[in-house]
Amino acid sequence: MDVQVGDVLVMKKNHPCGGNTFDCLRSGMDFRLRCTQCGREFMIPRAKAEKNIRKILRGGIAVPRDPRKAD
Ligand SMILES: [Zn+2]
Repeated sequence: MDVQVGDVLVMKKNHPCGGNTFDCLRSGMDFRLRCTQCGREFMIPRAKAEKNIRKILRGGIAVPRDPRKAD
């Protein structure tokens, strides 16, 4: 799954504050995410995060999941 810095991740599981959208501050082996509702930042392993992603928004537009359809 292609996640870039600046993307907004919509997760399947809510943050404890009730929000489910997160800004991606850092991508790599781990993601650094910031909850858009409460502003809390945390690191999460990529593998764990990817299982939990419902969709990725880039510039407010959903990014296609299928890599063949990217670009
Ligand atoms: Zn939160």
